[in-house]
Amino acid sequence: MSGGRRKRRGSLDDERPLVPRSSPRSREVLVLYVACEGESTEPDYLQYLNEQFGDGDGQDRQPFRIQPVYRRYGRTPCEVVATVAEAAGEDEAWALFDRDQWADIPQAIKDAAASRIELAFSHPSFDLWLLLHFQAFGGAQSGSSKLVVEKLRQAKGAEAFGDFDKKGDKSVKGSRRNALKGREEKAVAHARNLVASCAHGLCMPGQAKIGPVGDDDPQSPHQWAARSGHAPDCPVLQRDPSTDMWRLLARLRIVEP
Ligand SMILES: [Zn+2]
Repeated sequence: MSGGRRKRRGSLDDERPLVPRSSPRSREVLVLYVACEGESTEPDYLQYLNEQFGDGDGQDRQPFRIQPVYRRYGRTPCEVVATVAEAAGEDEAWALFDRDQWADIPQAIKDAAASRIELAFSHPSFDLWLLLHFQAFGGAQSGSSKLVVEKLRQAKGAEAFGDFDKKGDKSVKGSRRNALKGREEKAVAHARNLVASCAHGLCMPGQAKIGPVGDDDPQSPHQWAARSGHAPDCPVLQRDPSTDMWRLLARLRIVEP
């Protein structure tokens, strides 16, 4: 037996049989650093994922722990990428940003590709991802989240979001969080449909990468942005509307697409 990297001095270790653990992957906790611009919606949502799904399901789904990385007054996409690169070290890192602050998105994608940081881009906004839990949505929004928020407030089953973004309350807690529960598969299906119906025409959700980043995965910015299932030459800013958030849920195996 090699076991070179395992310390053998602890009594607990000594009592363990010297056989390979049968399914170490399923017992290890997958740690992901996920950085975002927003100061309440996204961090609340990530916390919800931890609490609702983070313990695994006792079967195939590995326990996970998302470390949200955010700041009170937000960041630009490039700052989101830089911050998560620093925070994550060798751990898996994701950067969430949306079309709201688009100025440096092309640069942010280049930086993310160079550092192998997964992207979850939403166009026009992360709020689209919340809406897709309740209904399908289509039609270019030209960067405005207004209609998305209106639809979310009125959606069937989304009564808790009736006052979303009124008086600055964009939190996802309490009854809002409860309203999302059990709708993950629907949200993922709706988000995948948006890839399939992208105006570019050659974008296919089945082409999306949902496993961990591999050493041999290509990392040109175009190929990196194509991990979403959009074609490499589908301009990110024209993926309107779209959200890559479904890929994070697939990665965590909350939903098997
Ligand atoms: Zn596309």
